[in-house]
Amino acid sequence: MKDCSYESNKRALEEAIAKAHRIVVLTGAGISVPSGIPDFRSATGLYSTNFGKFRAEEMISHEFYVLHKKEFYEFYKQKMLYPDAKPNAAHIFLAKLEEKGKLSAVITQNIDGLHQAAGSKRVLELHGSVHRNYCERCRKFYDLDYIVKSDGVPKCTCGGTIKPDVVLYGEGLDTDVIMAAVNALRQADLFIVIGTSLAVYPAAGLVDYYGGKTKIVVNKSATPYDAYADIVINDDCAKVLNPVNFGL
Ligand code: ZN
Repeated sequence: MKDCSYESNKRALEEAIAKAHRIVVLTGAGISVPSGIPDFRSATGLYSTNFGKFRAEEMISHEFYVLHKKEFYEFYKQKMLYPDAKPNAAHIFLAKLEEKGKLSAVITQNIDGLHQAAGSKRVLELHGSVHRNYCERCRKFYDLDYIVKSDGVPKCTCGGTIKPDVVLYGEGLDTDVIMAAVNALRQADLFIVIGTSLAVYPAAGLVDYYGGKTKIVVNKSATPYDAYADIVINDDCAKVLNPVNFGL
């Protein structure tokens, strides 16, 4: 059994980060949990619960959005939006690594925009962002505030329906984002997986493109990727990846 405690791996983690010049991280829901955004896919998570007469998981599908816009937006506004959430130490740590020229990309499965709020510039959002919303008719963009303040289904000034620029179940991913993630991984010299079990497509496939050697996992619980990782830390990411620990 690998020793996955923070205490035992702290030193190795610090050394790996100190040596690296082109760090790429892949983040998932776990990094935003300390910011108060729940991990929907966890065992007790929202996806497996019911919302009115529908299953939550079904409600964030493209098909559901097309057929039941009113119910989609009721659910989306109540359960998927956290407009007051603030970035935590781990988000800030990654932004500081980028600022110091050590990190080349944050690939994220999150749609909360907290990496950008922390100051990260190169963020590849695999599943889109709640901060971008567009009119399905004229393509005009709207911010999160507009969605939060809208009544029912948000409408454009042209009368069209506004859709969040998030990838719903049944929708394809943005090819440009995927390609940028692949390129960043190919050139990386350190890969850190943070707050994700890598169970969700396409993250699980992306990791194969990593061209460097050292792999690190920081996640609350064990992941299928642990066996391939050089360092595994099962602990709170905001505690492990705190700028203070690294003199940043
Ligand atoms: Zn419009």
